[in-house]
Amino acid sequence: MSTAVPEIFGSMVFNDDVMRARLPKDTYKSLKKTIQQGSPLELDVANVVANAMKDWAIEKGATHFTHWFQPLTGVTAEKHDSFISPNGAGVIMEFSGKELVKGEVDGSSFPSGGIRATFEARGYTAWDPTSYAFIKDGSLYIPTAFCSYTGESLDKKTPLLRSMEALNTQALRILRLFGNTSAKRVTTTVGPEQEYFLIDKKLWEQRKDLIFTGRTLFGSMPPKGQEMDDHYYGSIKPRIADFMADLDNELWKLGILSKTKHNEVAPAQHEMAPIFTTTNLSADQNQLTMQLMKQVALKHGLYCLLAEKPFAGVNGSGKHNNWSMSTDDGFNLLEPGETPRENAQFLLILTAVIQAVDKHQDLLRDSVASAGNDHRLGANEAPPAIISMFIGDELQAVLDSIENGSPYSQKTKEKMQIGVSVLPAIPKDTTDRNRTSPFAFTGNKFEFRSLGSSLSISGPNVVLNTIVAETLDEFATRLEKSSDLNADLQDLIKEKIIEHKKIIFNGNGYDDEWVKEAEKRGLLNLRTLPDAMERYLDPQNVEMFAKYGVYSESEMKSHHEVKLEKYSKVLNIEVNTMLDMIYKDILPASYAYMNDVAESASRVMAVVPNAKCSAQANVLKEISALADRLDSEAQKLAKLHKEANAIDDVPKQARFYVDKVIPQMEATRLVADSIEPILGEKYKPFPSYADLLFRV
Ligand code: ADP
Ligand code: MG
Repeated sequence: MSTAVPEIFGSMVFNDDVMRARLPKDTYKSLKKTIQQGSPLELDVANVVANAMKDWAIEKGATHFTHWFQPLTGVTAEKHDSFISPNGAGVIMEFSGKELVKGEVDGSSFPSGGIRATFEARGYTAWDPTSYAFIKDGSLYIPTAFCSYTGESLDKKTPLLRSMEALNTQALRILRLFGNTSAKRVTTTVGPEQEYFLIDKKLWEQRKDLIFTGRTLFGSMPPKGQEMDDHYYGSIKPRIADFMADLDNELWKLGILSKTKHNEVAPAQHEMAPIFTTTNLSADQNQLTMQLMKQVALKHGLYCLLAEKPFAGVNGSGKHNNWSMSTDDGFNLLEPGETPRENAQFLLILTAVIQAVDKHQDLLRDSVASAGNDHRLGANEAPPAIISMFIGDELQAVLDSIENGSPYSQKTKEKMQIGVSVLPAIPKDTTDRNRTSPFAFTGNKFEFRSLGSSLSISGPNVVLNTIVAETLDEFATRLEKSSDLNADLQDLIKEKIIEHKKIIFNGNGYDDEWVKEAEKRGLLNLRTLPDAMERYLDPQNVEMFAKYGVYSESEMKSHHEVKLEKYSKVLNIEVNTMLDMIYKDILPASYAYMNDVAESASRVMAVVPNAKCSAQANVLKEISALADRLDSEAQKLAKLHKEANAIDDVPKQARFYVDKVIPQMEATRLVADSIEPILGEKYKPFPSYADLLFRV
């Protein structure tokens, strides 16, 4: 297969090569202008593009097209229309520019958090020509933004594009300050490393919790977990290797640069990392990747779990968002560079990111909050809920030198003088030397590691782009007035380091000591989604997003509501599922076992009058006591659940779930999990952790 990769790569994508080959020169030029500069696409041009796309798609076997969009659910949505149009007794295949550029959607069944109530239900989708159309499952997919008729975004793509625009504007000002006149555009780039679990589909089918919630709500630890460290980078089982090969093939066809695959820390856990690309494309492609993982797994009799914490006591799955900014001529703004001038620009941008992250810890935390990710953050396998930054020893020495006038180089005793000194070599992080930091500088990019595995990367990148744009704006405004750039840079950086160094932590983020230390430093520790969302609508957040044209206040109110509502809905489903499994599966299994044990004891005693049958008696005593306790905990849970569901106010309901319902879910689970190890093997109500994690 390997020789065919260059041929299959991107074969299902209407990419630049295809456009150039299939579009008349003028049309190609106009379209390129739209893609690169965002200029509007004329209808006659759109008609020609649409026709060429249709011909190409039909040759590849497509019969339908769909506007593919990303509503606030966090997953993608699609509705397919065939190309057919009546023609006499038969049909012809048609696709117009109008259909390509704009689609109408009944928005009423998508979450809008109030925007829908105040405005019309109708929404429309608009082609995002910066993300190529592609063919999947017989349809031509057109990546689109999804808005209300009054222009509010109802999706994740629109704000992402707006935030990229904001960053572009401000970053260009910084580049101009340093004399760069050639760059026309700065785009943000992302490479998302995607973790996932693969389990046997037949076992998945037997667990309601996995089916309805994506994660296990019960399960005690198997005799072996991940303590042997033998899975990370371990040799890949043939069945998994076949899946991975198949997945790569599908990803490559769609032009997704799937690069790395390996086994992860937990048994049955794996990772795929693509080569980075422009953020909005990366967001689209990550959505496709997650869908293809699920789809391809089914073909192999496997089920792909993307939940953040599918198994208690076993590592959960995250998504590392590697982020940087680069110019249209290929210069990475987070590359430290070699000359004093490049170094100065880099240090300014680094300082900007430090200020942005410190000032907006709350927004970064919000952006990765979900019911599922709350179980993962701070569980000693993923960064804590506290946002901090890792910059490494070399850069720390440089910042210390700027702050204190101390030498940054042990050998030459040199002090950092902006515009004169040269930075020491900054190692590229190939070994993941600090995996415990939520936000780590890794040589020429930042790695935001708090994202959960199923999250759309759009939200966190909207925040990152906007908060960095805000700081770059502040810095540019100040430095544009400077008559001695190097001296003013030195002052600015020094001032900002002093102000924001509390966000930098190069130690072990999994250590309990860090939680105390972070509190002393005044860093936020927003443990759960309801905690994080309490600050979302703070005036400074609303003002910033409005200033850079990323979110309007009504959009933010809508996100606030949608996110909290989703949180409660997830928990509602989880409680329903727990109660169902307790009363229909776990307790009946205990009764069946007790029945057989009791019967065995009485039969033995009938034959052997002196037999004590204390083994049976002990088991019966223990299980019957646990069964009673489980019933009583479950009743308490049901009562709290009812109370939660009676609350109308969205934030209050989420708060009730986190404060009252979740602790009761945990107490209930604890009892159920202590029944599991004493039940006879053939009485177990559903596959155990041992089955799920080791029988793949
Ligand atoms: P590691 O994190 O193990 O050090 P790599 O450095 O190879 O691994 O990169 C991990 C991810 O970061 C990959 O998806 C890679 O494409 C991405 N990446 C590398 N450079 C950049 C960049 N400039 N912008 C965004 N992502 C990047
Ligand atoms: Mg990494």
